[in-house]
Amino acid sequence: MRHELSKSTYMRGLKCEKCLYLNKHHQNLRDTLSSEQEAIFEQGTNVGELAQELYPGGADFSPASYYDFGPSIKATKQAIAKGTPVIYEAAFLFNGVLVAMDILVKSTEGYKAFEVKSSTGVKDTYVKDAALQAYVIRNSGVSLEDVSIVYLNKKYKREGKLDITQLFKTESIWDQIIPLMDTIPEKIEKFKTLLKSSNAPQNDIGIHCQQPYSCDFTGHCWKNVPVYSVFDINNLSVNKRFDLYHSGYKTLDQIPSDYPLSNNQRLQVKSEIDQTVHIEKEAIAAFLDELIYPIYHIDFETMSHAVPQFDGASPYGPIVFQYSMHIQESIESEPIHREFIGEGNNIDPRRKFAEKLILDAGTHGNVLVYNIGFERGKLNALISLFPDLTMELQAIINRMKDLMVPFQSKWYYAPEMKGSHSLKYVFPAVAPDFEHTYSGLTIQNGSTASLVYSQMAEGTYKGDYDKAKLDLLEYCKLDTLAMVKLLEKLYLVSK
Ligand code: SF4
Repeated sequence: MRHELSKSTYMRGLKCEKCLYLNKHHQNLRDTLSSEQEAIFEQGTNVGELAQELYPGGADFSPASYYDFGPSIKATKQAIAKGTPVIYEAAFLFNGVLVAMDILVKSTEGYKAFEVKSSTGVKDTYVKDAALQAYVIRNSGVSLEDVSIVYLNKKYKREGKLDITQLFKTESIWDQIIPLMDTIPEKIEKFKTLLKSSNAPQNDIGIHCQQPYSCDFTGHCWKNVPVYSVFDINNLSVNKRFDLYHSGYKTLDQIPSDYPLSNNQRLQVKSEIDQTVHIEKEAIAAFLDELIYPIYHIDFETMSHAVPQFDGASPYGPIVFQYSMHIQESIESEPIHREFIGEGNNIDPRRKFAEKLILDAGTHGNVLVYNIGFERGKLNALISLFPDLTMELQAIINRMKDLMVPFQSKWYYAPEMKGSHSLKYVFPAVAPDFEHTYSGLTIQNGSTASLVYSQMAEGTYKGDYDKAKLDLLEYCKLDTLAMVKLLEKLYLVSK
């Protein structure tokens, strides 16, 4: 049984017609999925299966192969004819459009549909894709009474066994779907005609490439956008970025001198054109004067799960699992290194993390972090979880200072930072000759670290466990070592 469109291809068409066309005729141009994206899809599948427990004992018509929905469509039809009370992955084909509904539940007059999402709210795109599903299901002869989105309740806090009824929220979107229903046939015909065309539509790049989600043909369509472009201007609105781009200004040196930019944006542009480093000695010196030694350079790593794994955790709530710390007794002294990493294997790392941090962080001197909101937020979460450690953890928060400030404020700005104040850009720009670099590491960024440890925590990590642990320690250690180097540089330039 062939179909011309599916829910996902229809949604591509709504986002961008070129995206729909390329997906059908030029699959080879699609970006490769990163392991982080694959993990997100996997989490979605797990959430879907868990939500089935809200309506247990259903007949599951998941296809044996995603290339052949024929048997699923036939089985769904027969099950509905028999009045089967609950159906999972109910498949329908109408007017060349294939859809599969996560859960169908028999009601007095017909069926109610439940589409499961692994997010924490109802988004506009969910309403549009559910409208298509409702259109196909109704036209397949099913009396559909309601469509709801089942999503994760971010206020749910796990205590012991998962409480499925609290983990999920269900919201009817029937009233939002009905007005969209009449517009669907026209769109379906338009997309079908487009797919039969011999040429791809010539849509230009635009906000639609990133919203409501990032397109997987970005590598292809954006290939003419320079590596460092007007899209990298710090804090410039998306509309202004596209305004510049579509006016023919792609690189920073092409921007007209009278184009409205903030002082820091203008500084970024000027620094790129002149290839000069901008330094505000007095502001940096004032920042350094306030520091109290010993300095504890600290960096945390976190993971988050759609379905909370540990007590006290919520959907997507960050869980600290690792820290690195470099301690400097004085400006000149060699840093001493301390670190912590959880045990993985489904063991909650947070209590041991907090206790070792309290021991390692001493009682006086500043605790230096890079982006204070992140580390402070995690310590506050630990305080809520372990009220008996409030005094010690609060004392660490009170000693915190943010090393990001001089770079975010552009008191120190080098063209190599490319408008970013992230440590991954600032460190190589400030210490280009330092022997250790992120590119030399197996784990090179926080999202990979988070993914690797998440899998270790769940027991699904497929690589060498001990090696992965060492890679994580190396990665986090470089973050705090980078902070030591940044501080060193600030002292140097402030004189
Ligand atoms: S990258 Fe942008 S222009 Fe290209 S297909 Fe995707 S949404 Fe369309």
